[in-house]
Formats: sequence, structure tokens, C-alpha cells
Amino acid sequence: MPQLARRMGRAKPSAIMLVAEKAKQLKAEGRDIISFSIGVPNFLPGEHVYAAAREALAKDSGQYGSNRGADALLDAFLKHIEQVGMTGYTRANIATGIGAKHVIYNVCEALLDEGDGFAFPTPYWTSYVDIGEILNADIQLLPCPPEQNYKLTPAQLDAALAKKPKVFLFNNPSNPTGMVYTREEIAALADVIVKHPDTWILTDDIYNRMVFDGVGYHNFVHFRPELRDRVIFLDSLSKTYGMPGWRVGFMAGPESVAKAVTTMNSNHITNIPEIVTAAAVAALNGPQDIPTQKNAEFQAKRDQVMAMLNSIPGVVCPKPQGAFYAFPDISVAFGKSHDGKKIENDVDFCNALLEAKGVACVPGSAFGEPRALRISYTCPTPQLAPGLQRFQEFFAELK
Ligand code: PLP
Repeated sequence: MPQLARRMGRAKPSAIMLVAEKAKQLKAEGRDIISFSIGVPNFLPGEHVYAAAREALAKDSGQYGSNRGADALLDAFLKHIEQVGMTGYTRANIATGIGAKHVIYNVCEALLDEGDGFAFPTPYWTSYVDIGEILNADIQLLPCPPEQNYKLTPAQLDAALAKKPKVFLFNNPSNPTGMVYTREEIAALADVIVKHPDTWILTDDIYNRMVFDGVGYHNFVHFRPELRDRVIFLDSLSKTYGMPGWRVGFMAGPESVAKAVTTMNSNHITNIPEIVTAAAVAALNGPQDIPTQKNAEFQAKRDQVMAMLNSIPGVVCPKPQGAFYAFPDISVAFGKSHDGKKIENDVDFCNALLEAKGVACVPGSAFGEPRALRISYTCPTPQLAPGLQRFQEFFAELK
């Protein structure tokens, strides 16, 4: 029998999905489950988005669309990113895809040959490793433990870039930690990057509108405009607009990279569907009250989560300032037992928590940090307090 390609031996299903599946199964068995596992924003876009989609459906052109993305969508995105200081780009600098995941994959495929260095900090968003493995890149992890607030230091970056990886991928605000780099921190990292001209810089900044405490969003090119010819900024509608299933992602960067992604699109997908394009344009150009209101809600939920985590002796959680995740170090529980079940590691902890209390979290090892777990606090507001209480009880019951 013929075999699958060797690369499929390296591709793994998402660890986050495995937890979500287990929670779903327990729910189907009648258990009362509160999910802190999956990173979906849990709100819907405004009526104007649906109206635009309905109108596009009524006017279906019956044609294929642009490989890069429709002009109206490129223009809406250009206007959108200007609001976060990403100015001076034209349509030739932009390309779209079926979600940021697809755009990241395409950009990586366009930049990385087999064996090329692919560096990024841990904790990382799980797909970076999977994409690197499928492409057979040389993955170089830069550990950023809780002791350094899960943040990369300029010295670490300098040492990593001295090895001349082909691509350095940076995620801010971070999934899974919720960390947001300050203006000074981004400026200091940008100063390091300019010294290392051989590396492409990908900034996966899809949570750039979801920032709390007035800390703001900053990109390397804000401080070092000369980096514009090798920084590739990634964005998405999924989280900001409550549109994960519509699958719209973007890149803004050098023309050569946008062109390469457009070429990938022409071979993989041809175009983003017309109806989705119309909805995306409406989301970007329309009223921004829902994203603004949701951001305030997420900040309040963050405060609730932090209050609970800070009340548990030995649990350490650097304060998240963006996205909708908290990433506590729960290793104080290792070596203890719950209901006679020994907890040796993060996976044991998450399994025991789910079985005993019906609360689903994702083990930190899925993100390269086995001392932690990820809490995604996007659940409906009435579920948050009981979920946090169960988490707290679980800790109190450890022996
Ligand atoms: N990048 C990060 C850091 C994410 O957390 C996610 C989704 O969870 C993505 C990219 C992918 O987003 P999209 O839904 O646009 O594919």
C-alpha cells in the first residue's frame, strides 16, 4: 500500500482541540462542564456584518476573486492598521488568507526552506511548532519562563539572532500568556533586531486591539522604520470582531512577501469567498462599538481571574494585559494528590481538574511550558465565577 508523505509523520493534531473534545464528550454524557479551554471570543459581530453578507449573497458575481484579496478588503485593512500605527503601506504590501493561521503558514512556506532556522519564544502558540515541523525547519526555542514574566529579553534575542535564523516569529499580545510588551520593551528589542539583517521578522499580533490597562500596542517598525523591509505584521478578524469561523487573516509587509503569499493563494485557495469578503469589509469599516465594549469586558474578566489565582498560595501568574488568556504556574501542585489521584505534571492536573470539577483548561506543555496551564476566560460571564470557584476548591482539596 502506498504511504503518506514523510511530513505527515511530523504533523500532529492540535493539543488544544484534544482537551476541547474531551470536555465536549463529558458534556454529552450529562456532566456540567465549564470550559476555559478554547480560545474563541464568544461573541458575534454586529448586524451590519450580516447585512453585508446577505447583500453579497443577493448580488453573487458568479466569478473567482482576487488571489491577493479584493481591493475593497485591502483598502479597509490598510485603514484599519493605520489606527495602530502601521502606516505607509499600500495594497502591494498586503495579502489575505483563510484566517491568520493560513497566512502564517503561507508566509513560513514562502520564507523557510528545509533545515532553515525558525526561532520563537516559549511559551508559544501551538501551531508555530506544527508549521515548523511540517516545513522541516530547524526550530529554535527561546525559553521565557514565568520568572521573566514570559517575556523575551534583548540579550536573549541578540544571542538567538546571532545564530542567523531565517525567521524570528514574535507574538504580542501573547497566546497563551496574555503578556503585552511595553513601548520601551519593543523599542529595546527593535534595537537588537536592526543589528541582525539576515533574519525575517514575523509579528503575529492578531490580538493587537485586545490590550488592557492603557499599555497600548507597539510594533518594531514604530521605533525602527528601517525594519519595514523585513517585518511581516500578521492580523486577523477572528478575535477582535468575534468572527473566528469566517476565516479572514492578513499580512502587511514587504511587497516581495505579499506577492509570494498571493502566489500561494493562487495555488491553494484562489481567493477568500465573496460573501466573507463583504462581511469582512463591513466589520473593518463599520462601527467599532462591539470590539471596544468586549475589550472592557475582557479586562474585567481578567481582573476576576487574577483575583482568584492570587488567592491560591504558591500559584504564580504574571499579570496578563491583553488577549483573553491567563497562564498560571501551577507546579506547586505537582507531587500532591486529589481524591487519591497523584498529580505529577500539568497533564495530570488538567485531567484531574476536568474529571473532579468539570473545568477544562489546556496543559501548559501544549505551549512549551509544562509548569503552567492556560485559562481562556472567554466563557459566558455567568460561568466565570463558578468556574473560578471550582478551580480554587480543587487546589484547596489537594493533599
Ligand atoms: N495567532 C495566534 C497567536 C492565535 O492565538 C491564533 C488563534 O488562536 C491565530 C494566530 C490564528 O487565528 P485565525 O483564526 O485568524 O486563523
